[in-house]
Amino acid sequence: MSSQDPISGDRPDAPTDGYDAVVAGAGFAGLYLLHRLRSLGLAVRLLEAGDGVGGTWYWNRYPGARCDVESIEYSYSFSEELQQEWEWTERFAAQPEILRYLNHVADRFDLRPSIEFGTRVAAASFDEAASRWLITTQAGAVLSARYFIMATGCLSAARKPALPGLESFAGRKWHTGDWPTDGVDFTGQRVGVIGTGSSAVQAIPIIAAQARELTVFQRTANFQIPARNAPLDPEFVREIKAGYPQFRDRARHARGGTVRVLHPESALQVSPELRRERYQRLWDKGGADILGSFSDLLTNAGSNATLAEFFRAKVHQIVRDRQAAELLCGQDYPLGAKRMCLGTDFYETFNRENVRLVSLRAEPIEEITAAGLRTATRLYELDSLVLATGFDAMTGALLSPDIRGRAGRPLRAAWHDGPVTYLGLAAAGFPNFFFITGPGSPSVISNMVVSIEQHVDWVADLLAYLDKEGLTEAEATEPAAQAWTDHVNQVASRTLYPQAKSWYTGANVPGKPRIFMPYVGGVGEFRRRCDEVAENGYTGFVLR
Ligand code: FAD
Ligand code: NAP
Repeated sequence: MSSQDPISGDRPDAPTDGYDAVVAGAGFAGLYLLHRLRSLGLAVRLLEAGDGVGGTWYWNRYPGARCDVESIEYSYSFSEELQQEWEWTERFAAQPEILRYLNHVADRFDLRPSIEFGTRVAAASFDEAASRWLITTQAGAVLSARYFIMATGCLSAARKPALPGLESFAGRKWHTGDWPTDGVDFTGQRVGVIGTGSSAVQAIPIIAAQARELTVFQRTANFQIPARNAPLDPEFVREIKAGYPQFRDRARHARGGTVRVLHPESALQVSPELRRERYQRLWDKGGADILGSFSDLLTNAGSNATLAEFFRAKVHQIVRDRQAAELLCGQDYPLGAKRMCLGTDFYETFNRENVRLVSLRAEPIEEITAAGLRTATRLYELDSLVLATGFDAMTGALLSPDIRGRAGRPLRAAWHDGPVTYLGLAAAGFPNFFFITGPGSPSVISNMVVSIEQHVDWVADLLAYLDKEGLTEAEATEPAAQAWTDHVNQVASRTLYPQAKSWYTGANVPGKPRIFMPYVGGVGEFRRRCDEVAENGYTGFVLR
């Protein structure tokens, strides 16, 4: 380690001339990246803000947290031994099980010695003369590395809205994305939940069963599909495992990174009876497969309306209170244009005596007081407040540290009008700096583990290529990044996605530039394009 690294002395294994790579984040992405880069023989240090591995599954411990992609698919495929030996217990694993899995991965591949926990990256700057990154931690230590890679997650910067008086609340309050490790007991409490997104949909039924009284504050109604979670059938698991590599390969080339039947016809091409029968069958099956019931649900407003109508009829069947049912059906965007929520007994919960639904459209929040939440209409007295208010998604964690590239240019300045990336993994003016599942990649529109593995493999292959060719730098060009970002937006504009004021567009964070961030062209198509770039000698990059 060079003399500019004041903490090298703390690390017995620190190389004298600095690390090959510093990685930030120890979730699904960072762990696999660490494994891949070490396998290339690189000296890697991983810095993780939390005190353990797991990322999303380390922080989001709220009641009911579980995956919405089936566990047999929401898991790593890079090791046949790992996928054969690990036994998922449920169709959609709960947070503790996913966290156990990621801890198992960290142990199985002996990753911990390369990880520094409780260490947040605060800044990073590219030293052009030395062609090295200097990475500064919040505690003031500096590490030097040839490559700096952010595996800091799309949904890791929890967003607490600036509600007047929030700090004056005398009761207990939590954000779902920063939940205490020893859990929360709501027994006998008057609880308020702000938000009705995926986190809230999972937490609400469980909090309702515990609390004396639960008030749900809804600003925008969401679409919830039943998960129909259940223990996994051992026979089904045996079948999957018998052909796991082939099964995984299908996911890698599928649109959403999951093996799902995608019916090719339009919802408007078939009879209302056939349409209804298909929707009913997939509603009964549970999970997000219903989005594949017709090919144009996310491109044709008329088709989309048929499924939204089906959902709303279900809500009216389930929820006895007509006013509550109407509020739960008040979505102002096409179904699926915001991430669909998977839940268990979410709508049913509004039939409970101890649960009430408040529309923040009808009575906006005025302030939080010591006693509770005051809307334009009245004060709701609360003992506990749960903020299920989401994340500064996709760019929040990337822009939180002060990252400076060529000529000291801050990433925050480069992305002032919204992120401009090449393939969602690199930015022009930031040589040897990469991010995993960044804006411009399928990421949050897909089974993220599949997208993470694709990005990690691609970056690792690039670094191996540089070494093989005796090159030291890779930098995305400005025109390539701009063209890719324009393409991402063009593809999105042919769909219904941009019609929702969602975190996909930055609309959930006041003042954030509005740009559609994920690539909705499909996981398989994205992989094909990335492979093409690599096969043609990394077009769109300057290699030095
Ligand atoms: P993360 O898991 O977010 O890990 C990033 C890590 O980086 C964190 O540990 C964080 O502490 C660390 N970090 C951030 N900034 C810094 C810094 N400056 N310095 C050091 N460390 C830093 N996706 C799906 O496909 N299917 C699902 O079912 C699904 N369920 C989800 C459920 C919840 C509750 C949430 C919030 C998200 C879910 N997602 C799901 C998306 C999920 O984020 C990804 O699937 C995946 O876990 C992301 O892994 P990651 O490693 O990229 O990021
Ligand atoms: P989210 O989808 O962004 O939902 C946040 C909720 O809080 C919305 O209902 C939002 O209302 C509300 N809200 C935010 N600020 C508010 C304010 N100032 N006043 C009132 N209401 C406010 O966040 P999330 O539920 O945490 O989910 C984020 C993403 O994480 C999901 O889309 C999904 O990708 C992932 N996730 C997945 C699962 C899973 O099932 N596996 C579970 C949790 C999360 P508006 O809509 O009006 O803004």
